[in-house]
Amino acid sequence: MEYCYNCGTKLISKELEHEGIIPFCPKCNNFVFPIFSAAVSMIILSSDKSKMLLIKQYGKDFYRFVAGYINKGESAEEAVYREMFEEVGLKPKYIKPLRTKYFDKSNTLMYNYLAVCDNLDVNTNYEVDHYAWIPIEEAKVALKDAKLALYFFEQYLNDCSQN
Ligand SMILES: [Zn+2]
Repeated sequence: MEYCYNCGTKLISKELEHEGIIPFCPKCNNFVFPIFSAAVSMIILSSDKSKMLLIKQYGKDFYRFVAGYINKGESAEEAVYREMFEEVGLKPKYIKPLRTKYFDKSNTLMYNYLAVCDNLDVNTNYEVDHYAWIPIEEAKVALKDAKLALYFFEQYLNDCSQN
């Protein structure tokens, strides 16, 4: 970050106690910390973990995870429940935080969650073109064009195999 996002003044570097050298706006008299969006994506599984719910959306012909931005004032967990209910009408039995990864293209930190569902009756909204419960063995192939989702799924499989 080179300029203050509040007033446009060129930032200088200044020492902040316990934090080190941080960009500082001399006009606002404020330290300027990085700004980025936060979003959640979900590995949605049936209770027996044999099937994964994937969707296609925005006219794109590849499978991806149900995902969405975290609203201001909302927790990541609340965003998981809200997005799942809005996009596919599911209420998970439980959710569990998995890995996180920064996505450069949209300046977003993505928080990936496991969401396990008893009831598999999907009810999609206008944002979803297509959905499928994919056998877990086929999920990797199904996600081949969704790089970030594939990354999270591979990490999930690695982490499972180490427990
Ligand atoms: Zn400023």
